[in-house]
Amino acid sequence: MVPVLRYLGGACGRARGGFPGSFSGVCGSASGRPWPLCGGVRSASSSSFDIVIVGGGIVGLASARALILRHPALSIGVLEKEKDLATHQTGHNSGVIHSGIYYKPESLKAKLCVQGADLIYEYCNKKGISYKQCGKLIVAVEQEEIPRLRALYERGLQNGVQGLRLIQQEDIKKKEPYCRGLMAIDCPYTGIVNYRQVALSFAQDFQEAGGSVLTNFEVKDIEMARESPPRSIDGMKYPIMVKNTKGEEIQCQYVVTCAGLHSDRISELSGCNPDPQIVPFRGDYLLLKPEKCYLVKGNIYPVPDSRFPFLGVHFTPRMDGNIWLGPNAVLAFKREGYRPFDFSARDAKDLIANSGLIKLISQNLSYGVSEMYKACFLSATVKHLQKFIPEINITDILRGPAGVRAQALDRDGNLVDDFVFDGGVGDIGSRILHVRNAPSPAATSSLAISGMIADEVQQRFEL
Ligand SMILES: Cc1cc2nc3c(=O)[nH]c(=O)nc-3n(C[C@H](O)[C@H](O)[C@H](O)COP(=O)(O)OP(=O)(O)OC[C@H]3O[C@@H](n4cnc5c(N)ncnc54)[C@H](O)[C@@H]3O)c2cc1C
Repeated sequence: MVPVLRYLGGACGRARGGFPGSFSGVCGSASGRPWPLCGGVRSASSSSFDIVIVGGGIVGLASARALILRHPALSIGVLEKEKDLATHQTGHNSGVIHSGIYYKPESLKAKLCVQGADLIYEYCNKKGISYKQCGKLIVAVEQEEIPRLRALYERGLQNGVQGLRLIQQEDIKKKEPYCRGLMAIDCPYTGIVNYRQVALSFAQDFQEAGGSVLTNFEVKDIEMARESPPRSIDGMKYPIMVKNTKGEEIQCQYVVTCAGLHSDRISELSGCNPDPQIVPFRGDYLLLKPEKCYLVKGNIYPVPDSRFPFLGVHFTPRMDGNIWLGPNAVLAFKREGYRPFDFSARDAKDLIANSGLIKLISQNLSYGVSEMYKACFLSATVKHLQKFIPEINITDILRGPAGVRAQALDRDGNLVDDFVFDGGVGDIGSRILHVRNAPSPAATSSLAISGMIADEVQQRFEL
């Protein structure tokens, strides 16, 4: 028995039928103002789309935009559980446009980041979205870091990153007068942007092309329809039922999921393997007091520890003129918990039952303890920051916001470093594409990822 849909009024896009959830036309646009609703509604008894995208973060919105621009005749809907778009990872990150230096040559991460950075700059120029190409220094402060720095430089060259240079102490001072270091990689192509603004602009493009965005729609089930919905004129043309937590449902032909911190749970709904599971790592930022912001000109990063995908605590200028210091990486007991003591019984239970996590912790106990220590005691983080900018002291900083990374972890305790796509089993599996892992720098890479997802959808679903 199909529950009767509640018609909430308003119309946007080319969906067939009325909509449960709420329209995103009220949730803001790239310019901060609501954008006009567009398109029309065909009937109010049910709603159906050719393609549904679950997740209104930057990856879901970029993918929705790419799909509708490529297939303008299809009806496409984005379903987002929150009342606003781009409020989780997309709205809680460092805002860096990465150049692609870090990633293993030939990996998807490397290719998509290098391509994605070009595309983001081009998109921002076209749309008039502000960004700053303020560059970045990756600085070695200890002799023992120099071989790793040189290897990173070679990797960057292999990845085709533009403008890289290895520089010595005197040139570090020219770029960052308050930064000390023995040697650095100068990476002028790195920039900063507000990714939430970029994501909202993708949503606006999508809606203007006829797409629909439904917020307050938390997907709880995805299953094959066993019978045609009553009074349905579309019959089994839309064989997939996507249900939300309020018992409302939407029919569609195909589903793409980009659910970030919940990507593993959503994938399991269509019979996918539970692995890789998502482990949430919170990253806390500190703020440099405004009167001390002169100490930092561009991005300053440490030489990363190659065992971890996290890039280490860095100095990052923000578009609003602030300087953020961070983030650290501590295990979070709530997937979308942005405060140190946020706790979810379900998320904590999943962590405890995760055999991969137990292996990860036992192999990296000292790293984990040191990150937790730094999270608790500001003086420990300040000591680390002083290795780069000795003038900084504890009275110059304030506690700032936090983000939670969706880190995929395999059964053997390995952090999954690259993008992961999955389908599912049986009839339903042939109609679904899950983006299971879209780690940093997926915001930088979002336009490149969206092109790849549109190719995959076209091929898999024979559009
Ligand atoms: C601390 C931190 C710093 C980072 N720094 C950078 C950086 O400087 N540069 C960079 O390029 N990248 C950075 N990243 C990575 C980047 O932010 C993410 O890779 C990117 O935002 C992922 O986008 P997403 O759309 O996959 O996920 P999200 O933005 O998390 O979006 C997923 C969406 O799915 C929705 N959703 C989940 N479950 C459901 C459901 N059941 N039903 C409906 N909707 C659902 C969520 O509400 C959410 O809106 C950083 C990440 C973090 C956490």
